[in-house]
Amino acid sequence: MQFRQPLQRHAIQATAEFLLIAEGRSLCVSLPSNGDGSSQSGNVKWFSPHELGDLGLVNHSGVLSVGGGGSFQLVHPVLLGKLPHNGIWRLALDVSPSKSTQDAAKNQGLAFQDLRSLLPLIPAEDLSIAGQAVALLQWHKANEYCGRCGARTTPVEMGGRRQCTSDKSHRAYPRTDPVMITLVESTDGQRALLGRPKSLSRRGVLTCLSGFIEQGESIEECVRREVMEEAGVSVGQVAVLGSQPWPIGRGGTCEVMIGCMAKALDDTLHVNEEEMDAVRWVTKQEAQTAIQHSSVNDVASSGQGAAFAEGHLDFFIPPKWAIAHHLIKAWATQGDSWFSKL
Ligand SMILES: [Zn+2]
Repeated sequence: MQFRQPLQRHAIQATAEFLLIAEGRSLCVSLPSNGDGSSQSGNVKWFSPHELGDLGLVNHSGVLSVGGGGSFQLVHPVLLGKLPHNGIWRLALDVSPSKSTQDAAKNQGLAFQDLRSLLPLIPAEDLSIAGQAVALLQWHKANEYCGRCGARTTPVEMGGRRQCTSDKSHRAYPRTDPVMITLVESTDGQRALLGRPKSLSRRGVLTCLSGFIEQGESIEECVRREVMEEAGVSVGQVAVLGSQPWPIGRGGTCEVMIGCMAKALDDTLHVNEEEMDAVRWVTKQEAQTAIQHSSVNDVASSGQGAAFAEGHLDFFIPPKWAIAHHLIKAWATQGDSWFSKL
């Protein structure tokens, strides 16, 4: 949908839209109300350069300034990319320091929202771009000083990287942390190992096991290590199915989730109770029921699904926007062992 290419400032000036971010993971969106206070859908609000003036961002806050003839000079925005179908450049601005801008946005009927709470509500493309904006601005905020010598850094290439002001060879690039997430199939191929780490506060949810890939570790090695650490289960065969960007990762980091299928060598569990609230084998029938009742728009029950909410199932699985949902579905809809098709 988007791509980056060498910066051409004059081209950005001709056509540009801005996404405003405040207080880290919040973003500016328009969420129509149902009348009962709840919201079911919405869209990210993109501002034209001239609309920024209405928010006090032009010639007042010092973030942007306007020159003659409607042209403008960019000061702090970061470049997200260019839309190939219409040539519009898209940029993000962190307006956290500007309370007046946030108030002006509210007066226009807009709201700064947490990205996680918007997951079921706004289109996937908007989420993708907003996630990129949040992650990139978070990275800039966390890298104002050089990690090698401690001097201040400055954004260059429209926010594509930061450079040390003391030594030009000290450069920092936006980082993405790889995380593996895996469904572990039992030895007979009819059960899946799901769990809930203590860090996941949603009572009743069971999901695929996951963990950060360590330095020098392959994806497959990470799967075997994490499954052993969390569930005490030995894993043999590992297959990589796909991946999902996750710019709203733990601790404000940008992650990429790498989805895997793993085959257990032994079904005996030795659960790490310090790390995990629950780990258990789930049957294919249970997984199919959980999938049937999972709804991306089930906001009222926080995506739990009717089967859990009504007590027919003692767990629920992540909704459709999570890669774990698709791993569970890929496994549950396969009659035999998932690995039999390889
Ligand atoms: Zn330095």
